[in-house]
Amino acid sequence: MKINKAYQFRLEPTVEQAVVLNNLVGSARFVWNQILAASFEMFAKNEFINATNLVNKIMDLKNNPDFDFLRTHANAVSLQQKIRDLASAWSRFFDPKVHARYKENKKKPKKPKSFKLLDGTELQLRPLMPQWKRKIDRRDSIRLVQFDKYCRVEGNRVKLPNGVGFVKFRKSQDIIGIIKNVTISKKSGHWYVSFGCERELDQNPIHPSTSAIGIDLGITKLITTSEGQHINPKNSFKSNQVKLAKLQRQLSRKVLFSQNWQKQNRKIQKLHHHIANIRHDYLHKITTNISKNHAMIVVENLKVVNMSQSASGSAVQHGRNVKAKSGLNKSILDQGWGMMVDMIEYKQHWQGGLLIKINPRYTSQTCFQCQHIAKENRRTQAKFECVKCRYVANADFNAARNILAAGHAVLSAEGGCGKGRPMKQKTCGLREKAT
Ligand SMILES: [Zn+2]
Repeated sequence: MKINKAYQFRLEPTVEQAVVLNNLVGSARFVWNQILAASFEMFAKNEFINATNLVNKIMDLKNNPDFDFLRTHANAVSLQQKIRDLASAWSRFFDPKVHARYKENKKKPKKPKSFKLLDGTELQLRPLMPQWKRKIDRRDSIRLVQFDKYCRVEGNRVKLPNGVGFVKFRKSQDIIGIIKNVTISKKSGHWYVSFGCERELDQNPIHPSTSAIGIDLGITKLITTSEGQHINPKNSFKSNQVKLAKLQRQLSRKVLFSQNWQKQNRKIQKLHHHIANIRHDYLHKITTNISKNHAMIVVENLKVVNMSQSASGSAVQHGRNVKAKSGLNKSILDQGWGMMVDMIEYKQHWQGGLLIKINPRYTSQTCFQCQHIAKENRRTQAKFECVKCRYVANADFNAARNILAAGHAVLSAEGGCGKGRPMKQKTCGLREKAT
């Protein structure tokens, strides 16, 4: 089995090195935008857009005397990689499945933009088309492949091409496996290096534990397990929210795009970044811990959770409608849950464990003791009290135990599970009888 893993570290270039890196990411962004414009022309003429066609256009740019810096201050490999990314962005645009998914969770429609073609006509840009990269987005990056050829890691320093030389990075963990590629990125003024590694395992890993656990995801309690353990969400977001609101108020008083506005905007970006980092680290800690200790983990299928909520249009149905309950930004939370499940998924994969996603129907309304399903079982957000058998429990705990039971049902339907079996994701109906 092959395992791919990326290791990201904070990069600490000197001032001189940062200048070179800025040139490298800047020229990659420039080439993206130039070739994006060219590909809009191709699109308007119904020409075939693929990686080869687009990569060939890099040469045209390099031959243009106005763009001489592409020869002197850019990295050829990274430009190619950037344009390959552009080609992938186009192929996503041409993929009907991606469009179907987009329609499913449609966000606020953006106002349509257009691109002025060389012949003077305008091309209406459509959703999911690749977009311009702006410097102001502060998310620039370059990727170098064939790491061995151009780069080298020595201790906590990495050698980069284009005369950058050895750059220090904050090596917070060991890099395991063969480094295949390296991504240098700049986010909110900080530089990062990410090593994409590949590791070959002789045999499928066998999970050290034999236990199984069901987990219920929520707002007030981020995780409740079928063993009765609660894990709270990281509250850094709330305190930072106040700070963020203050910064945004100050921003609104400044002249748009003025020096002071830019400065204030940078502060806001930085805080956003800080919040995301904290959340990310926290989710990693939680998921590593769960994955290490349980061979089988059962969660609700989040996609179904979303769909059932929007279909029924009822906020209480699942007892955890985000907006109504906490005023937090729903998308941020959804993203957090999705990210967490993704983390558990690949961590289980590495450890030889199992992740089962079950249909979330009735998990919160079913009595774990007698299987009676009723809305009335759930009088309040926190308390579960069965109207039939009078079983009383914490509502999330009751749900987590139902989730685990549903996971076992999936397994027995498939004829049991041996340790170290490849991971599966199946959904199953949980006692779908009406009340
Ligand atoms: Zn009951």
